[in-house]
Amino acid sequence: MGLITAVRKDRQTKTAAKEAVRQRTLKKAVSLTGIGLHSGAEVTLTLNPAPADHGIHFHRTDVTAGASDKAAVAARWDRVADTRLCSALANDHGVTIGTVEHLMAALAGCGIDNLRIELDGPEVPVMDGSAQQFVDVIRAAGVVELSAARRVIRVLKPVAVESEQGRAELAPAAVFSVDFEIEFQSRAIRRQHLRLGVVNGAFCKELANARTFGFMHEVEAMQKAGLARGGSLDNAIVIDGDKVLNDGGLRHVDEFVRHKALDAVGDLYLAGSQIIGAYRAERAGHAINNALLRKLFADPDAWCYDVLRGDESKTAMDGGIKAEAAVV
Ligand SMILES: [Zn+2]
Repeated sequence: MGLITAVRKDRQTKTAAKEAVRQRTLKKAVSLTGIGLHSGAEVTLTLNPAPADHGIHFHRTDVTAGASDKAAVAARWDRVADTRLCSALANDHGVTIGTVEHLMAALAGCGIDNLRIELDGPEVPVMDGSAQQFVDVIRAAGVVELSAARRVIRVLKPVAVESEQGRAELAPAAVFSVDFEIEFQSRAIRRQHLRLGVVNGAFCKELANARTFGFMHEVEAMQKAGLARGGSLDNAIVIDGDKVLNDGGLRHVDEFVRHKALDAVGDLYLAGSQIIGAYRAERAGHAINNALLRKLFADPDAWCYDVLRGDESKTAMDGGIKAEAAVV
């Protein structure tokens, strides 16, 4: 290697080391309206840009009484209050935000670090049962890069949780990946397995449009109990025995396991930062995903905060959406 080449290579390495992946937010506010899956009521969601280190916070605009922080709910694992049908958050005043997982998945997948999310009801609208419309509005609003480096959570040792329902684990790895396996009696699903490195635009290409699903008898039972009142073939895949009832059929042959992977991406983004590690799950749902985060954070040796630099910046989740130049 000649002297000039050696000097140039050294300079490039130094530049790469300094160049960290930066935090992102939306370029402008954007709204969308839909119905809540469980309430059946119409709600409007507004995604507002937020400064560096703000994180993702929800604000209920229909809750006005009392202290100014009463309506605010942080999108964080220790605010998850209910995981039976969806991931629901609650603050200390009992103000709740239901069905956050598909929106959180879109924010994770598109690499949005900071956002003030306004909602005029108790539940994020279900839209078509996937994360696609959330990705579409993020793309339409545009993304800007902030000057602060993005803080990621690096998994340092394996952590696993298991219950009668299933199991999930996080293990050290160079990138965030999802490995999910499900098995159902119904011939419409059977055994499905998906393994995906969720880097760059992979979320938008492979997972974003996968819809939530349910069985006809479950939907009927839930609706009798006053739940899933907004649930219909417009926002879920409905299976009756071995048959998919939706007219257009499936968006992917393995749409079911892709949706479970989407849910996991959303649930894990409640960690507060992108996780760098390998997620593996069998038949896991929102409860197991939340228990996994609680177990991870309970052990200080199992994780650390870090910044993605140099070659590692290629592993950042950005949804394939380029950000505009950094703003101060
Ligand atoms: Zn879901």
